[in-house]
Amino acid sequence: MAKEEIVLASNNQHKVREINALLRNTAFKIVPQSKFDVIEADETGATFLENALIKARNAAEYTQHPIIADDSGIEVYALEGRPGIFSSRYAGPDANDKDNLNKLIEDIKLLNKKACRARFVCSMVFLRHATDRNPIIVEGVWEGHVITKPKGENGFGYDPIFYIPTYQRTSAELSDDTKNQLSHRGQALRKLVEKLSKIK
Ligand code: IMP
Repeated sequence: MAKEEIVLASNNQHKVREINALLRNTAFKIVPQSKFDVIEADETGATFLENALIKARNAAEYTQHPIIADDSGIEVYALEGRPGIFSSRYAGPDANDKDNLNKLIEDIKLLNKKACRARFVCSMVFLRHATDRNPIIVEGVWEGHVITKPKGENGFGYDPIFYIPTYQRTSAELSDDTKNQLSHRGQALRKLVEKLSKIK
């Protein structure tokens, strides 16, 4: 049976790969919004959910397709939840993953700690079309610690400093499959797929 194509409101290749791996045994597959001429929306929301909805509506307007959008980030408890929704631009508007990672490491060092509790959060939404008044909304949370010594080569973003005590590894040291089983995005997507299968 042909899979139903849903556009992912992101150009992040890591996310596309993670999400398609999670959709392997479902009736859905995602295509990145880069396949369409989508101009990225400004993330002006105050929460992960608001930003996910902004990205989803924007992509739905450009593509006329059903959309999955997520907004995610890392919250460090001792930093009052920072970087939070600013995770992708923590070191400034043009910062890359490495700049953001280094800034967070410096912030943690200023706390005089080697590790602090943190969590990844992912808000994910599904919109049937741009004016869908009843989006499907799900969330995933992945608890762990942040450390000041990066370890591992897999994943992206803050993965090298996100340490999972039960695995005694950072998220960048986990295989793709293990990360997907545990991660905020994996949790959110599994909830979304369950809800989608009920309405399709
Ligand atoms: P978004 O693409 O606007 O949702 O921003 C997500 C940002 O949060 C990314 O740029 C990363 O810095 C961080 N992030 C989200 N999920 C992950 C993950 O699974 N691993 C590492 N960093 C992540």
